[in-house]
Amino acid sequence: MATRDRTIENLITRLNRLPGIGPKTAERLAFHLMRVEAEEALQLAAAIEQVRAAVKTCRRCFQLDSQDPCGICSDASRDQTMLLVIEDPREVTRFEDTGYRGLYHVLQGRLSQLEGIRPEDLTTGQLVARVKAAKFAEVCLATNPDLEGEGTARVLAEQLAPLGTKVTRLARGLPAGASIAQVSASILADAIEGRRPLS
Ligand SMILES: [Zn+2]
Repeated sequence: MATRDRTIENLITRLNRLPGIGPKTAERLAFHLMRVEAEEALQLAAAIEQVRAAVKTCRRCFQLDSQDPCGICSDASRDQTMLLVIEDPREVTRFEDTGYRGLYHVLQGRLSQLEGIRPEDLTTGQLVARVKAAKFAEVCLATNPDLEGEGTARVLAEQLAPLGTKVTRLARGLPAGASIAQVSASILADAIEGRRPLS
């Protein structure tokens, strides 16, 4: 069987490793990159290089930013007494769009028995240490309103309970099973507005 050029094959394999990119799409993208102007293809490579060189994980809130502490953690005008706990760094933009002006803590995932993700695989230890040290008036658990998101919120609420800080959850107005990444800013704003205490 004739094999394809190794250089081309290598690009296809690497594209195929990206989330949501199957072998057919990987092949299509690779041939597209070989067909367009060299400059355009190389700008993509340069953008990847730049983002990898510049972007770091904020050691306070664990979101991605070109500075550490990140722009949000270093902004003294934000409400330092309110902490929103989220699963994924991509959700920061979603909450920023609602006008939220407090701080964040990114868990970098959620607990999942199925996928074997335990509290120590997330930034839960850092969350507890942060809440212990920082005297927040409120910690709102804004994990997704699905089975694993709810389970994660329950475990976090238990871990935070001994610290005596008020712990809340987003309002139930979010459609069950919905993903925070997909709901509109107004629905999300209502969910923050109507947050409820967790015992
Ligand atoms: Zn930060």
